[in-house]
Amino acid sequence: MIEYELKGPASQQRTRIRLGASLKENHFPQAVLIEGLPGIGKKALAIDLAKALCCTHATKRPCGECFGCKMIGDSGAVDNWVIPLESKEAKARKASDVSEGSSAKTVEEYTQMYVSKIIENPYSIDYLSAASEISVDLIRSLTGRFALKNDRVRCVIIAEADRMNESASNALLKTLEEVPPNTYFILTTSSREHLLQTIRSRCLSIHLPVLSSEEVRSLASQYTEISISDDVLGLSQGSVGRAIYYASRATELQELALDFLSASLSGQYSDLFFSLDSEELKDPAIANLFLEVLSFLIADIIRDMSGASLRLVETTRKFQENNDIHLNLEAFSMALLSVQETMFRISTRRTTALVCLQSLAIKLFDGFR
Ligand SMILES: [Zn+2]
Repeated sequence: MIEYELKGPASQQRTRIRLGASLKENHFPQAVLIEGLPGIGKKALAIDLAKALCCTHATKRPCGECFGCKMIGDSGAVDNWVIPLESKEAKARKASDVSEGSSAKTVEEYTQMYVSKIIENPYSIDYLSAASEISVDLIRSLTGRFALKNDRVRCVIIAEADRMNESASNALLKTLEEVPPNTYFILTTSSREHLLQTIRSRCLSIHLPVLSSEEVRSLASQYTEISISDDVLGLSQGSVGRAIYYASRATELQELALDFLSASLSGQYSDLFFSLDSEELKDPAIANLFLEVLSFLIADIIRDMSGASLRLVETTRKFQENNDIHLNLEAFSMALLSVQETMFRISTRRTTALVCLQSLAIKLFDGFR
C-alpha cells in the first residue's frame, strides 16, 4: 500500500489531505487547476503534487529522494514547466536551433531562470511583469514532446495559466481533450476568469484558501530577512507573496499613499505628480499594488468612523494626525469607489498607469472639498 502525504500549512491541510486520498485511490485527474489569490502557495502545492505523482518510492510518496522527486525539484528540468515569458524572451531561439558557440539566450534558458526563481521561492508574486504571456510556441513545444514514447509518469506545471494567449489556449485545449497516458497537467491561476471556459471544464478545480496571519508571518520570514510589521500583515490578506512584496516596499508605498491622500484633500498636486512619475509605477501590476495600499488606507478611515478595527493601524493613525479630516463618510466612500474604478482601468491597460493615477488624484474628493 502506498501512502501519500502532502505536507503544508494548517489552513490548507484539508485540500492536501483530499488530494492525497485521491492519489492513494489511484483516481487522480489528469488535469487539475489550482486557483486562489496570488502568493498563497499554489505553485508550492503544484510542486508537491508533481513530486507525489512522479515519485517511485514503494510506500511513502513524495519521498523527496528518488529520481522522480529530484527531477521536479531541479530547476534545470525545464520540460516539467510552462511559464509566461516576456515577448522578447519568447522570441528567442530554441536550444535545438542554436549554433554552437552562440551566446544568445535560448527560450529554455529563460524558462530555467524563472523555474529556479520559483523553486527558490514559490510564493513570490513579482518575478513576472504584467506583459509576459504564454505563447502558442511554448505550448507546441510541450505537446511536441508528448509524441515521444515514455514509460515514466510525466507532469507538467503550467504556471499562471491565465497568461496563455488565445492560440496557446486552443493548442492546449486539444491536448486536454485527450491527455496522453501517464501524463498529468497541473495548472495554476489567480484569475480564473481569464481562462477559457473550455479549459476550466477539462480540469478539476482546486480552490486553495488563504493563510492565517501566523502562517503568513512564519512562511514569509523563511524568504525575507525584513521583519513583517502588523501593517504589512494587514496588507498581505493571507498571502505570503504579498507579505514579502510589501515587506520591502511598505514604507515607501505607505508614504506615497499618505502623500496621495493629503494632496487630493488639499488640491495641491505638483509634488505628488512628481513622485508618481516613477519607473516602478509604470508597471500596471505595481501601480495596482500601490492603489491597494491607498484603498486599505481609505477603508481604514471609514472603518474608524464606525469604530471597526483597522488593518493599517500605523499608517491610518499617521494620516489622522497630520490631516484635518473635515470630510464625511460619503466623501470617503466615493473615494474608495474611485480607487477601485482606477484599478480596473489600469488593469485593462487602455491608458497608462501614470495618467490613471493623476486623474484619480484630481477627482478623488471632487465635489466634497
Ligand atoms: Zn520520490
